[in-house]
Amino acid sequence: MLLTVSAAAVAVPPALAGEPAGGAGAESAGDRLFPSLGNGGYDAGSYDVQFDYRPSTPKVNATVTMRATAKQDLSRFSLGAAGQDIKSVSEQGARAEFSTSGEKLTITPKNPVRKGRTFTVRTDCRADRSRNLPGSFWEYWVPTKDGFALMGRPDRAHLFFPANDHPSDKARFTFRISTPKNLRAVANGFLISRRTAGDRTTYTFRTRHPIPTRVGQVAVGKYREVEQRGPHGLPIRSYVPADQYTQLKPVVSRTPAQVAWLEKEIGRPFPFEVYGMLAVKSPYNGVALETATRSTFSSSMLNRPAEQAEPVMAHELVHQYFGDAVSVRSWDDMWISEGHAHYYQIRYEVDRGFRQRPRGRATR
Ligand SMILES: [Zn+2]
Repeated sequence: MLLTVSAAAVAVPPALAGEPAGGAGAESAGDRLFPSLGNGGYDAGSYDVQFDYRPSTPKVNATVTMRATAKQDLSRFSLGAAGQDIKSVSEQGARAEFSTSGEKLTITPKNPVRKGRTFTVRTDCRADRSRNLPGSFWEYWVPTKDGFALMGRPDRAHLFFPANDHPSDKARFTFRISTPKNLRAVANGFLISRRTAGDRTTYTFRTRHPIPTRVGQVAVGKYREVEQRGPHGLPIRSYVPADQYTQLKPVVSRTPAQVAWLEKEIGRPFPFEVYGMLAVKSPYNGVALETATRSTFSSSMLNRPAEQAEPVMAHELVHQYFGDAVSVRSWDDMWISEGHAHYYQIRYEVDRGFRQRPRGRATR
């Protein structure tokens, strides 16, 4: 990402009194910069997120199923959840008690979950695209004329769906997005199915590898696909606004060459099963985000001259290695991903002749 966001410390909610046997998972991942983020006691393995997009309303009916492994006996545990109307929660198919407070959804399963057990939690809720929390740097539910996109970084993925929203707990994602059939949904990973029934189409995307919640991607709108191949046959699947296809196709078509360049620089193959670009007609010109497997850009930024657009493309590509495939355990270490992204961005600018080679004392 190419903008810095200041984060105010938030108090960690105190543990509730009168603990039943089994114990409660912590209500924090213990992060110094974002103490209210994340939850303890379990390790999320996968999320299955269903969104029902209706243009006529900002409300989005959602069903979110998290599969996780208990790291301790759990009589109670929490997920990050903000701005959603929670309708019901079940654990292993049995209705579970729940309560919400601040940005936490606290769940009491019918029977305590034993340490080492894998369990599933299903939450039926209604998210709200018009709800962007006070003090927001921008709108995380990014509105577009024909749909929306998500910009959850750094700490707002749990505005979209209940999750253990901390980069130390990566998970695989399946997104099932239902839209009017004249629109198209885009999300992380590969499109594994597209089914139309009546006037609705459901797009299912899935990631093969675990990714942090903050780089989840969902967008709906009138998009057109640009299909390419990268090094070693890596599939490149980019999406651009349909009415900007002619202008933007040559820009996103730089992607395979960029991946090949970066693989050579880093000496490692691209870490995911697919890559691509998503160009969004967002009001945030210049904002770009390293959404895993497919980076998100404002289309106006990509329409800038090559010496401005391509370095940003390279920057988000580097983040696929540093930040997405390898994520930070603590937000204090954000420099590890941003430092590498900036470093290789500058090397790219020099290689492309967009910037003069920095002159300094030679070192051995
Ligand atoms: Zn960055």
